[in-house]
Amino acid sequence: MADEIAHTAPRPTVIIENRAACAGYETSVFFPREGDIATVEKAKDVCRRCPALRDCLMQALRIDDRFAILGGTTPSERQLIRRRLAVRQRELGVTS
Ligand code: SF4
Repeated sequence: MADEIAHTAPRPTVIIENRAACAGYETSVFFPREGDIATVEKAKDVCRRCPALRDCLMQALRIDDRFAILGGTTPSERQLIRRRLAVRQRELGVTS
């Protein structure tokens, strides 16, 4: 299942991939099984060293990726970011 998701999920753009610290790592590191905290932390460690982290996170939020560790975040962490951004936009009266 994880392999199927890994092969079908959206991937970083070429611009991000050219700077990606994850280049050369097994894809499975960024698609950990549910509850596999050690693998999640391993992926996040790679992301912390990545010069494309910000762009990768923005893309992951934009495409609403639900499977991968991207931009140093898990899908559930990105859901939280999206909810907080939506609240903040409402507070500021910003429409998207
Ligand atoms: S932030 Fe993480 S997932 Fe995104 S390109 Fe960098 S290393 Fe890869």
